[in-house]
Amino acid sequence: MSPSTPVAEVAHVGLAKAGLLRKLGIHTVRDLLYHLPRRYEDTRAVTPVAQLRPGEVQTARVVVRNVSMRRSKERNMVLVMASLVEGADTVGAIWFNQKFLMGQLHSGMELLVSGKVQASRTGLAFRNPVFERVGAGQRHVGRLAPVYPETEGLSSHFLRGRIEPLLPLADELPDRLPPSIRAAEGLEPIAVALRQVHFPDDEPSRLKASERIAFEELFLLQLAAERARRRRLSTAGVTVPYDVEVARAFAGALPFQLTNGQRVAAHEILTDMAAAGPMNRLLQGDVGSGKTAVAAMAALMTSRAGLQTAVMAPTEILARQHQATLTDLLAPHDLAPRLLVGSTPARARREILEAVANGRESLLVGTHALIEDDVAFSGLGLVVVDEQHRFGVAQRQRLRRKGALTPNFLAMTATPIPRSLQLTVYGDVNHSELREMPPGRQPVSTRVVPPHERDDAYQFIRDQVAEGRQAFVICPLIEENDKLGVRSAVAEHERLRDVVFTDLRVELLHGRMPAREKEERMARFATGEADLLVSTSVIEVGVDVPNATIMVIEGAERFGLAQLHQFRGRVGRGGHRSFCLLFQGGMDDEGSQRLDTVAATQSGFDLAEADLRLRGAGDVAGLRQHGLPEMLAADLLDVVMGQRTRAAAQAWLDSDPDLTAYEPLHAAMNGYRAVFDLD
Ligand code: ADP
Ligand code: MG
Repeated sequence: MSPSTPVAEVAHVGLAKAGLLRKLGIHTVRDLLYHLPRRYEDTRAVTPVAQLRPGEVQTARVVVRNVSMRRSKERNMVLVMASLVEGADTVGAIWFNQKFLMGQLHSGMELLVSGKVQASRTGLAFRNPVFERVGAGQRHVGRLAPVYPETEGLSSHFLRGRIEPLLPLADELPDRLPPSIRAAEGLEPIAVALRQVHFPDDEPSRLKASERIAFEELFLLQLAAERARRRRLSTAGVTVPYDVEVARAFAGALPFQLTNGQRVAAHEILTDMAAAGPMNRLLQGDVGSGKTAVAAMAALMTSRAGLQTAVMAPTEILARQHQATLTDLLAPHDLAPRLLVGSTPARARREILEAVANGRESLLVGTHALIEDDVAFSGLGLVVVDEQHRFGVAQRQRLRRKGALTPNFLAMTATPIPRSLQLTVYGDVNHSELREMPPGRQPVSTRVVPPHERDDAYQFIRDQVAEGRQAFVICPLIEENDKLGVRSAVAEHERLRDVVFTDLRVELLHGRMPAREKEERMARFATGEADLLVSTSVIEVGVDVPNATIMVIEGAERFGLAQLHQFRGRVGRGGHRSFCLLFQGGMDDEGSQRLDTVAATQSGFDLAEADLRLRGAGDVAGLRQHGLPEMLAADLLDVVMGQRTRAAAQAWLDSDPDLTAYEPLHAAMNGYRAVFDLD
C-alpha cells in the first residue's frame, strides 16, 4: 500500500464506493489523504448521565444493558432499544430502522454515545445517537471528529474509518513545501498536517494543520503565476512603439472626450505593448464604460507599427457590434476592420483569409471562427479577447499562438474580478479598470417584483411604450420546462403577444435560431419596429438599443449576479430614465438576498465583491472552470496569507528560477501548466 494505490484496493472500500469516490475526483490513497474535512463534530465534552437534559445534543460515557428490538405497529419501523448506565444512573437509547445494530450492541460494552436527548414516558432517552466503543483511538465520538463534504452514499462515518488507517502513509508523500520554507515560515511537515487536519488532537493543532495546507495551496498558485509572469517578460514578444502623436490623433478624432479611466487604461496598455515582453492585461469595466474605444486605440497603434490585431468575441451578435463600433472609431484613421464569423460566406472568407495572410488587412474581428487552423496572420501583434471567461484556455492560446512572436494580449470583461482575487488567481495578469461611465449615463432603477405585482409591472411597461420606449424581456429557457415551472422565451413570447400586450409588437429571439434570423429580429427591435423583445440570455452581450428603457428578467434568481448586471447594462444607454425589473420565480431566501443585492448595487465592481461575500471565493473564482486545482484549505480572500505566500514564491524563484532545486515543487507545477501557459 502506497500513496499511489488505487482507492478500490484500500481495505473495506470496494468497487461501489470506489466509484462514488471517483466522482469526487478521488482515485488514489493520496487523493483520499487530501480529501479534507469541511468541519468537525466536537463531542469531547462528556455529560454525566444524571445531568443530561432533554432537547439538547449531548455526549455520555456509559455501559450497555438490555438491548432489545421490536417492530412499531403504527409506521412499520424496526426499533432497537437499549438501557445505558453509568453507576446508578440510567438513560435510554432508541434507534429507528437500524436492525443491524442488534449485532453490534451487547450488554456490558462500554460506549461513548452522542446525540439528542429526549424526554419519553419512560424517562430520558438518546434518539438515534452515534456511538463508539471506548478504547484506544476514538474516531467518531469523544473527540473532534471530521465531517467530510457530503455525497450520496459516502458518509463521514465511512470515510473516517477508511482514512484513519491510511494516515501513516502520509509519511511517504513528497512534501511540496521545501524544508527551508517550512523552517522560515514555522510550518509543520505535510504528514503531520494531514494527520492533524483529519483527526486533530485539539483546536490549536487543527488550526496549525489547516494553515500549513492553506499555505501550500496559495504558495503553489503564486509560484505558478509568478513563474508565468517572469517567463512571459523574458520571452521575445511583439513590441509596438508608443507613438504619442498617434494616440493624440485618435483622441482628437473621437466624437467625445475620453474619460479619465479610459485615458489611464489606454496609457497602461500602450506602455505594456511598447515593453519587451508580451503584454498580458485585463481591461475591466461595466457594460458601456467604453472598453472598445480603448481597444481601438491599441489596435490603431499596432497597425501603425505594421502589425495586425485580432479581436475575438464569444457571440456573433457581439462580434458584429464590435465590428460596427470599431469601424466608426477608426474610420478617420483609414483603418477598416474585417469581420470573420461562422456565417461568413465561403467566398468572402477566402478573400479575407488571403488579405490577412499577406498583411493587407490589419484588423480582424470575429468569433471562434478566428481560431480555425487556416486563419493565418502575416504579423499578429495584438490579440483582444472580449469576455474571455466564455472561452476555454485552449481557445485563447490557439489565437495567441497565431503570431510568430508572442503577441500582446488584452482581455476585456464586464464581469469584474474582485481586487481581493487579483493577486492570487490572476497573479500573472495586469489589471486596468474603467470605474466611471461616460458622462450622461443614468443609473438604472432596479426593482425586485414579487408575483402579485406582475400586473402593475405590465401596466408600467405599457405606459413606457406609449411614450415611445421599448422593453427587453429575458427568460431563462428557450422552451417550456414544466417540471421546473421556469418561463421560456417561446411560451412567454406567445403569452405576451396574444394575451398581455395584444396591442403591442412583440419580437422573439433565442440562440437556436439561425444567425441570420437572429440578426434580422434584433435589427427590427433596434430600428423600433418592435416594442418588446423576448429573448433568452443570448441578448446578454453586445446589444445596443438606446431607446430601450426597460429590462424585465423572468426567473431572475436563476441567473448569476454578474449576468443580471450585464442584462441591466442593456438599458440606460440613451437619454431616458431606465428600469430593470427582476421578476421572482420560485424563491428561496438565498435567491432573494441575491436579487436584493443587485437592486441595491449599481457598480459591477461592488457587485463582484458582494457576490464574493455571498458565495465564497472558491465559487466566484471558478477555479475548476479556469482549470486550476480547487482550494481545499486556503481562503483566497485571506490577504495576509496572500502576501506571505507571494513573497515566499518570489524569493524562491529569485534563487531557483527553473525549479530544479526541489523536485516536488517542480512536479506540483503540472496542475497549473495549462492555465498559466508554463509550457
Ligand atoms: P463597452 O465595450 O465597455 O461595453 P463601448 O466601448 O462599446 O463600451 O462603449 C459604449 C458606447 O459608449 C459606445 O457607443 C461608445 O462610442 C460610447 N463611448 C465610449 N467612450 C465614451 C466617452 N468617453 N464618452 C462618451 N461616449 C463614449
Ligand atoms: Mg462592448
